[in-house]
Amino acid sequence: MLINNPAINSFIPPQRTLMGPGPSDVPQRILDAMQRPTIGHLDPAFQEMMEEIKVLMRYAYQTENPLTFPVSAPGSAGMEMCFVNLVEPGDKVIVCVNGVFGGRMLENVKRCGGVPVVVEDEWGKPVTVTKVEQAFADNPDVKVLAFVHAETSTGAQSDAASLAKLAHQHGAVTIMDCVTSLGGTPVLIDEWGIDAAYSGSQKCLSCTPGLSPVTFSERAIAKVKARKTPVQSWFLDLNLVLGYWQAEGKRTYHHTAPINPLYALHEALVILSEEGLENAWARHRTMHEKLKAGLEGMDMKFVVEESARLPQLNSVWVPEGADDAAARAKLLGEFNLEIGAGLGALAGKVWRIGLMGHSAKQENIDFCLKAIRSVLHK
Ligand SMILES: *Cc1c(COP(=O)(O)O)cnc(C)c1O
Repeated sequence: MLINNPAINSFIPPQRTLMGPGPSDVPQRILDAMQRPTIGHLDPAFQEMMEEIKVLMRYAYQTENPLTFPVSAPGSAGMEMCFVNLVEPGDKVIVCVNGVFGGRMLENVKRCGGVPVVVEDEWGKPVTVTKVEQAFADNPDVKVLAFVHAETSTGAQSDAASLAKLAHQHGAVTIMDCVTSLGGTPVLIDEWGIDAAYSGSQKCLSCTPGLSPVTFSERAIAKVKARKTPVQSWFLDLNLVLGYWQAEGKRTYHHTAPINPLYALHEALVILSEEGLENAWARHRTMHEKLKAGLEGMDMKFVVEESARLPQLNSVWVPEGADDAAARAKLLGEFNLEIGAGLGALAGKVWRIGLMGHSAKQENIDFCLKAIRSVLHK
């Protein structure tokens, strides 16, 4: 059969400004890194770069964990890697659900044969630490605590340090989703005592999508090694992946690493280290304050209370009288500006304006406020 469509040719994407819940704007330096020549995934030069990625990732995560590397798949695969390795059939797991991604954690626990103990909070609120404390008191046999640090579906940040402390007091390991927090707000793996964490390349790291930085503590590795049953996923089995990412000098083939996307991640992490983590956090905070002033100047109201608000994900109620879908379509069509729609329980009710990574800059804020003013006729 021949392709009977002469209109299909090379794809040239439109130039957009990305201010949604990810992906964020990718700097040219990262796109340049990605187009460098592809080499073999066992090439010594490539392996040297892998070692540098691990060093840079430990900095981003503020951890000494030797087992810190990028999973060759998006954030959802990082999530799955944590659950399939750390949750054995029959393990009791406290899962905190205060938005879409907590709900996905719960789904992972169930599919791993875990016994979930759900701690629910209203969408837009952080996880209530005292509820988790009660869940531990009611279930002394809990093995794992899982929570989302930065709920991208609502814009709420939870108190990871207090939650991890509770888990340690009760002998449980912690799984933390920091897909949206890494590089945007402090993620202090060692100081907080987090055992397993996963993130995504395309949010505050401003890399192209498709990679998931993960890190595992010695406690987490001990739990994986003590499993009585094999990990049900072959691709995500830590024991096997380690042969490639961890076995210096004698790496073996597990899967073909995504070579060029890893060049991009390396560059994104170099950019982060050049700016400095503290400076990146401060920039997200400052840009959030500016965006907030502009949005509130248009009488827009934030979904999340100030103390738990994520600077990199601004959820505001869709203004009274505005047509959610039509307004967003206009932003995209007329201004080439992408902002996020509401998800799940907040679908049609909120806009999620991302200030992630490279997108968190003054010119984007000015542009976004101007565009919103125009579509709302303010
Ligand atoms: C984006 C996101 C994910 C999923 O990452 P993908 O790269 O889309 O698979 C998971 N958790 C949170 C909190 C996210 O924001």
